[in-house]
Amino acid sequence: MPIATVNPANGETVKTYEAMGEEELERRLQLAEATFRTYRTTSSEERARLLNRAADLLDEDAPEIGRVMTTEMGKPVRQARAEAAKCAKAMRWYAGRAAELLADEHPAEADVRDSGASRALVRYRPLGPVLAVMPWNFPLWQVVRFAAPALMAGNVGLLKHASNVPQTALYLEDLFHRAGFTEGVFQTLLIGSGAVDEILRDERVKAATLTGSEPAGRAVASTAGEMVKKTVLELGGSDPFVVMPSADVERAAEVAVTARVQNNGQSCIAAKRFIVHSDVYDAFIERFTEGMKALRVGDPQAEDTDIGPLATEQGRADLEELVDDARRGGASVLCGGERPDGPGWYYPPTVLAGVGREMRIHREEAFGPVATVYRADGLDEAVLIANDSPFGLSSNVWTRDEAEVDRFVRDLEAGGVFVNGMTASHPALPFGGVKRSGYGRELSGHGIREFCNITTVWHG
Ligand code: NAP
Repeated sequence: MPIATVNPANGETVKTYEAMGEEELERRLQLAEATFRTYRTTSSEERARLLNRAADLLDEDAPEIGRVMTTEMGKPVRQARAEAAKCAKAMRWYAGRAAELLADEHPAEADVRDSGASRALVRYRPLGPVLAVMPWNFPLWQVVRFAAPALMAGNVGLLKHASNVPQTALYLEDLFHRAGFTEGVFQTLLIGSGAVDEILRDERVKAATLTGSEPAGRAVASTAGEMVKKTVLELGGSDPFVVMPSADVERAAEVAVTARVQNNGQSCIAAKRFIVHSDVYDAFIERFTEGMKALRVGDPQAEDTDIGPLATEQGRADLEELVDDARRGGASVLCGGERPDGPGWYYPPTVLAGVGREMRIHREEAFGPVATVYRADGLDEAVLIANDSPFGLSSNVWTRDEAEVDRFVRDLEAGGVFVNGMTASHPALPFGGVKRSGYGRELSGHGIREFCNITTVWHG
């Protein structure tokens, strides 16, 4: 895949980039290592000052970088600006909280004495240069979600961004420099995926985080395993959205539309499988399908567009194949399901009912605005369908019955259970999955400690 900005709204190549060569990569790795030696000794207050400055700059840049993101990957420009604002908020959150989240921990006095120590504590120290392999779908947010805590912890970052968002990738390096971080604290490596392995094997790189597809995660995790380096993996998802009879069905259907189509349907935490109790199935499906049909599909740079094109031509072809496979297997198409004529990689909001276990879309991730709906005769069946997936990122349940909530929280195989709402990330709440959605957590205290050397300090 060439490193290039290709506008998904019309397929035109806007700008291409040469991948960095060996010499440049060596220079950047040396710089990362050298910078870490001093950056690790800076105070939390100093890092916070710079990160707050980056947040202010990002807020100022939001309209422009929003347009760039939309040109590179097709998300509606309103959502692109909101993404920039969310990143600035997360930067401020970590700037304000990191000192507290990484404060020394003091075990109970009795335990300290029992260990034979006069004093003992736990200190969180940085690891060093961390490689971040990131996807195009939230080109700012995925990176900031890693970089804000990593930099506050005293690590330095090396970003390998997706090949179709090079302008956003370069913007991020520039943003951190303008904020005052020394060159080398955050660097963008313009490289294809084939160059990741060698960088990851380099002794100077201490750990890696990858957000992306399962094959990419597997490749990075196996090399990191061989090299005994820590990894965090945030991979795909096919989150269930369960609607029970006691739910506010109208509200559930309304939120279901947003939960499925946010970011043109290309979100790991989008609700993708809608599991509806028989008692409210017809009412929900009618409202949900109407909501999906009413969405405005079109130019992503227009302020009133709800859904733009898919980010890549291949992505649209993959989605179409999943829909065609389901149709051939007997699923009914309640709306959408046909690609429009004309330029750009558009695909309409689509609802599929009667999906069976043998269909690919039941097991694979539909990365675009395609929803599958299932009928369940009770809570047990809803849980069975929800868990019948290789993924376990997040989940959504709609019910007003507390006993049902307890059952879902106990039984759903996912890294999150969102009750009467849709999954969304927040700096204060851990984010990540189980099963083939990956491992480790981002955000909150859990996220910032992932790339720390948790050091025991013991005094005799
Ligand atoms: P992708 O193809 O896996 O790409 C993600 C990143 O990995 C890109 O930088 C890509 O580089 C790189 N990459 C691909 N193959 C690699 C390999 N063999 N070795 C090393 N690096 C490799 O994923 P995507 O299409 O950009 O993003 C969509 C996927 O990301 C979906 O499955 C989605 O669910 C998942 N995702 C997960 C989360 C989460 O938090 N769990 C969030 C967002 C997205 P190139 O671009 O150069 O190929």
